[in-house]
Amino acid sequence: MSDVSLAGAGEAELTQMRWPEGFVCPRCGEGAASLFRHWGKPLWQCPACRLQTSLVAGTMFAHSRLPLTVCFQATWLLTQSKGGAGTESFAEHVLCQRVAAKTQADAGNAGV
Ligand SMILES: [Zn+2]
Repeated sequence: MSDVSLAGAGEAELTQMRWPEGFVCPRCGEGAASLFRHWGKPLWQCPACRLQTSLVAGTMFAHSRLPLTVCFQATWLLTQSKGGAGTESFAEHVLCQRVAAKTQADAGNAGV
């Protein structure tokens, strides 16, 4: 399995996790968007308010250097199985938060 196909699969998963019912604009709630690519990453542009949203914009992963799939899956597992998450996924979750907090501090207020 190549890195490219892995990245593609992760991206689809992340999209599904973030918007299980389909895209919703985080600013105005519009339910449709144009999907295009910026530096190889997917960006959604809301047709109503023109807000551009990436998979990680506004999340604690915006500045994380860990693989996004790891962070998202760890968090998702934790939130989906209340009290039932294994210690392994919990450890990943904590690790992700720490790294994300550190990289966010390093990056200052550079919004994505
Ligand atoms: Zn909008």
